[in-house]
Amino acid sequence: MHEGRCLCGNIAFAVEGPPNDIINCHCYFCQRATGSAYLVETMFDIDKFHLLYGTPRVYHHISAGSGKAIHIHFCEDCGTKTHMRFDRFPTSVGVFSGTFDQPDWFERTHDSALHFFLSTAPKGTVLPAGYAVYDAHYWQADGVVATPQIFDVNVLVTDEVQAKSRERLRGSGLG
Ligand SMILES: [Zn+2]
Ligand SMILES: [Zn+2]
Repeated sequence: MHEGRCLCGNIAFAVEGPPNDIINCHCYFCQRATGSAYLVETMFDIDKFHLLYGTPRVYHHISAGSGKAIHIHFCEDCGTKTHMRFDRFPTSVGVFSGTFDQPDWFERTHDSALHFFLSTAPKGTVLPAGYAVYDAHYWQADGVVATPQIFDVNVLVTDEVQAKSRERLRGSGLG
């Protein structure tokens, strides 16, 4: 069991690990939701996630990509977002992993840690060698599974890297 909590401590949760996936997401939604460069989102089956105390408020956001609702749970006292539920993936919970008491407790392996949305990653982001990097999401609304790139060396996001990624998305009919 690994616990997490909001800044003020009024909301606490625990998960039974390890996460199913670790999604480093560089999409505009995650940038805006975190106010930062990207979200480290650990995914758990709903029965492995336990609210220990507190009552999160829930903001219902319609995803620009899927058109389905994302339910963002946050502390109304301190504003910290702790986790999300998804109409698209009803059996999953996504945790804002910076809220864990030990934000590094889970192991980031080449199989489990994915990078999403290279196409919108801010300039200056570094994508690590050896990890699956997707131009957008892993799977699209129509169920098509995308093909990742795996870089031999760490890649710094520049205008050129962004442009190439967007071009690939358009070429694949997904952009
Ligand atoms: Zn709080
Ligand atoms: Zn995202």
